[in-house]
Amino acid sequence: MFVSVPLLDLQAHYAPLRQSLLEAVTRVCDSQRFIGGPEVEGLERELSAYLNTPHAIGMSSGTDALVAALMALQIGPGDEVITPTYSFFATAGAVVRVGARPVLVDVEADTFNLDPQATLAAITPATKAIIPVHLFGQAAELAPILAAAGPRQIAVIEDAAQAIGAAYRGRAVGSWGAIGCFSFFPSKNLGGFGDGGLVTSTSDDLARRLRLIRNHGMEPKYYHHLVGANFRIDALQAAVLRVKLPYLSGWSDARRTNATRYRALFADAGLPVTMPVEAPDRTHIYNQFVIRAPERDRLRAHLDAAGIGTEVYYPVPFHLQACFAGLGYKAGAFPVAEAAARQSLALPIYPELTEAQQAAVVGAIRGFYS
Ligand SMILES: *Cc1c(COP(=O)(O)O)cnc(C)c1O
Repeated sequence: MFVSVPLLDLQAHYAPLRQSLLEAVTRVCDSQRFIGGPEVEGLERELSAYLNTPHAIGMSSGTDALVAALMALQIGPGDEVITPTYSFFATAGAVVRVGARPVLVDVEADTFNLDPQATLAAITPATKAIIPVHLFGQAAELAPILAAAGPRQIAVIEDAAQAIGAAYRGRAVGSWGAIGCFSFFPSKNLGGFGDGGLVTSTSDDLARRLRLIRNHGMEPKYYHHLVGANFRIDALQAAVLRVKLPYLSGWSDARRTNATRYRALFADAGLPVTMPVEAPDRTHIYNQFVIRAPERDRLRAHLDAAGIGTEVYYPVPFHLQACFAGLGYKAGAFPVAEAAARQSLALPIYPELTEAQQAAVVGAIRGFYS
């Protein structure tokens, strides 16, 4: 039987909530309050409770959240910011946008998250921040990074764009560093009807600066304390996200259940692929279920022909991107990330995925290797 399996099924995600989502959108349209207002304030309150952090500030995107975080920490020309070389582009792009220099480090072979030892070794007197990325939905190893950063006045900015609700040592990611950055891009575990993002902070002072930066440094109207930008989240997005937030934990649990089922199916199948590793005390909410596979590109084409959607996160690490050639890194500089870029393959893991679909995915992979 032919079972088609998309990488992500947003229609199946939308269908059960369609009525409440349309009501929320209608509520905003009827109010004609599109900027700020009760929906944005409500979302910020609810996310602050969900993430157990005193300050949650809606932003225009995850990318803008990262830029705003760097701006709030007054990071700019002459400063170095350490980021993993293996992540979505925005992590390093944001550093360049504020005029600072990204200092890249390799990742852990098993979790794809930044390597703490490599991170500590990359610290120099110019290091002003470290951006651990909680990649694919799993918390990065934060303790050694926080321990090294604190006494040196280095800020830790958590890129939690893929990991809303994941925890490190039982506490939500995004609440460990100076600032946490989140994204509501439609493919994230909590996705809007377009772009949106969030910053969190435990510091009253940073939160105040972030609110100013979000709105041209303006307080009150037309009095500008600093040069910020328009980093505001739309009221329409906030209303949509408020409908979805109560379901987020259930969705992430469903992704985890699907991950467990893949592990069992793959164990039975005895295939030459490597499963994602869950490190102790670092919960994984499986924004992506990323395996390592020999002959990855041929496998991907085979799955595509079988109606199974996959994606490569990410085919080119930062140090080999054309736009970062000026940083002077060479091929071979970060072998773990380079191997991951050749081998990683994200399989469908969305909450609505059925057992039959998962069996079809594993069956098709078995077909390729046999
Ligand atoms: C999605 C993502 C971002 C950027 O978020 P946008 O809302 O798309 O701007 C940043 N970092 C990581 C790791 C991401 O996955």
